[in-house]
Amino acid sequence: METTFVIIKPNGVKGGLIGEIISRYEKSRLSVSAMKFKTIEKSEAEGFYAEHKERGFFPELVAFMTSGPSVLLALSGEKAVEKVRTINGATNPANASPGTIRHDFAPNTGENIVHSSDSTTSAAREVAFWFEKKEIASYPPYSHVRG
Ligand code: UDP
Ligand code: MG
Repeated sequence: METTFVIIKPNGVKGGLIGEIISRYEKSRLSVSAMKFKTIEKSEAEGFYAEHKERGFFPELVAFMTSGPSVLLALSGEKAVEKVRTINGATNPANASPGTIRHDFAPNTGENIVHSSDSTTSAAREVAFWFEKKEIASYPPYSHVRG
């Protein structure tokens, strides 16, 4: 079992896509372990995306990520990190495969609807960045419903 971290970015929330997006993860047998509805603050966006702080797009990225509420999620299941990267699609929606979230809903790279961790190491840092231990649930995934 693996856990990854996801953000439904402000345009996903504004576009009424919270349910659609979470549904895609759940249909891939990933379980919600933690969830928060929150407007990210400037300092939080800067800290979270610190690896990109020298990039030209950084100020725009921070501005976009703080432009409205987001949904923060920890998702657990087999190969959760890789699975979610596949479901989300390429960073640039123009390169994203049909059926991926970014292909289906994202207008451009800067507003690409979702974030997800790129490795188990990043996932551990990112889950811990946004959630306290006590906010993360642990329960048997898919012990019922989907066969
Ligand atoms: N980004 C951007 N322009 C770029 C590259 C990235 O605006 O040329 C933004 C985009 O929102 C992306 C985020 O910065 O999701 C983080 O970039 P990364 O390369 O980590 O892509 P991701 O892991 O989100 O696919
Ligand atoms: Mg990334």
